[in-house]
Amino acid sequence: MLTCLMGILSRPTNLLAFFWPANAVLLGIFLRLPQLNNTGGWLGAFSGYILADLITGNSLVLTLFLTVSNIITVSVSLFFIYLTRLNYRNYNKGFTFLYLFSICALAGCFASALFAVNTIPYAPNTFMSPDRKWIDFGMWWTGEIINCITILPLILAFPARAEFHHFFTKDLPKISFVHLLPLFAIIISVIFTHIFFGPGALLYPLAAMIWAALTYRLFSLTIVNSIVCLVTYHSLTSFYLSESSDAYFSTAISVRIGLCMLGLAPLVLAIISSNRHELYQRVLYMANHDSLTKAMNRHSFFEQGEKLTKNSKSQPLTAIMMDIDHFKKMNDQYGHHTGDLVLQNFADQVRTCLRSEDLFARIGGEEFIILLSCTEEYQAHQIAERIRQVIESTPVHQQGKPDIYITVSIGVAKQNPDDPVLQHLVNTADQALYQAKSQGRNQVMIASFH
Ligand code: GH3
Ligand code: MG
Ligand code: MG
Repeated sequence: MLTCLMGILSRPTNLLAFFWPANAVLLGIFLRLPQLNNTGGWLGAFSGYILADLITGNSLVLTLFLTVSNIITVSVSLFFIYLTRLNYRNYNKGFTFLYLFSICALAGCFASALFAVNTIPYAPNTFMSPDRKWIDFGMWWTGEIINCITILPLILAFPARAEFHHFFTKDLPKISFVHLLPLFAIIISVIFTHIFFGPGALLYPLAAMIWAALTYRLFSLTIVNSIVCLVTYHSLTSFYLSESSDAYFSTAISVRIGLCMLGLAPLVLAIISSNRHELYQRVLYMANHDSLTKAMNRHSFFEQGEKLTKNSKSQPLTAIMMDIDHFKKMNDQYGHHTGDLVLQNFADQVRTCLRSEDLFARIGGEEFIILLSCTEEYQAHQIAERIRQVIESTPVHQQGKPDIYITVSIGVAKQNPDDPVLQHLVNTADQALYQAKSQGRNQVMIASFH
C-alpha cells in the first residue's frame, strides 16, 4: 500500500524530466523496511507505477514498459545487494555505502536503462526514438544514478523515532553560528554556480561540501547534499543546454556524472570521518577507564582530579577512599571470577550514590576513590556512610550459588586550602581508611589534617 502510494505521489515530479525519485524511494523503503519486501509490497509498487502512468495519459503498452523499467532498477539492485551479502544496514560504516551505491548504479540503473531503450522506442505513442537509442540510454542511466545519489542516502539515514526526538530536544538547541558556517559557504558557492557559469562550476561547492561533511551528522549532510546536487544540476544544465543544445549527449551526461561524484564524495567522507570519530571516542574511553568496573583508571583520575583541584579554588573539595573488606578471602573461597563480579557490583552500587560531576576511580585491586567538588566534610561523610550501608545491605547474586554480602571500609578527607596538591589529599584519605580498617572494618573514618 505504502509503496503503491509512493509510486502515485512521486509521479508528478517527473515533470522535471531528470528527477524521478520513485525508484530510489522504493529501493530505500525496501532496504529500511524489509518486511515490505514481499509479494504484497511488489504488487503495491507495481500497481502504483501503472496507475501513476495511466493517470498521466500514457498508452497501456508504454505504461507497462515504463513500469517494468522502473521495477528493474529496484529489483536488480536488491538482487545484487542480497547476492553479494552486502550488510546494507551498516551503510554508515566504512565503504559500505560506496559499495551499495556502486551496485545500484552499475547493476540496477544500468539494467533498467538497457531494458527501457530496447522496448520503449517501439511502443505506441512513445516519446523515444530508436535512432537516439544510445543517447537515451545514457540519459536514462545517468538520470537513475542521480536519483539514487540524491534520494537513497536520505532514506537510509532518516532518523528512527528515538533519534528524531533526540535531535529536536538535545542537538537542535546546541546549534551555534559557527556550526552554520559550512552551510553558508555551501549556499554562497551554489549561488556562484548560477552567476559564473562555466566548466568549473561543478566544483564550486566542493570545498564547502567537504567542510560540511566533516561538521554535520550524516542525515543533515544528506539533505544538504541532495539540494546542492539538484540546484547545481539546474544551473549547469540551463547554461549548457541553452549554449550548446547540439552537444546534448556529451554535456548533459557529463554534467550528471560529475554531479554524482560531487554527491558521492562528501557522503563517503562524512561516513569515514564519523567512523573515525566514534573509534577515537571508544579508544579514549578505554584508555581512561577500567574495563572491569567502568570506573576511571588511576591515570585519568589524577589528570581530571588536578583540573578539578585547580578549578575549585575556594570551594571545598573532599575525597572518599574505599577498600573492600577481606576481599582476598572471597577470591580464595569463591574464585577470581566471583571476585570480579563483586568488584563490578560494588562499582555499580557506588555510582548510584554519586552525582554526575563526581570523579569515581579504581586506583588499585579493590581500592576505589571518589573526588567530590563543592562538598563539605560533613556532606562527604554522609555520602560515605550511605555507600557503606548500601554495600553492606546489597547482596551480590551468583548463578546457582548463595548470595554474597560484602562490607567496605572508608576514609574521608577534606582538602587543606593551604595545600592544593591532590596526592596529599589522597594520602590523607588513605590514612583515614587505614584507621577504619584497624578499628574493625565496615566503617567510615574522617581524617583530621589540622
Ligand atoms: P582488607 O580487609 O585488609 O582490605 O583485606 P583484603 O583481603 O581485602 O586486602 P588485600 O589487599 O590483602 O587483598 C586484596 C586482594 O584483591 C588481593 C588480590 O588477589 C585481589 N584482587 C586485586 N585485583 C583483583 C581483580 O581485578 N579481580 C579479583 N578477582 N581480585 C583482585
Ligand atoms: Mg581490601
Ligand atoms: Mg586493598
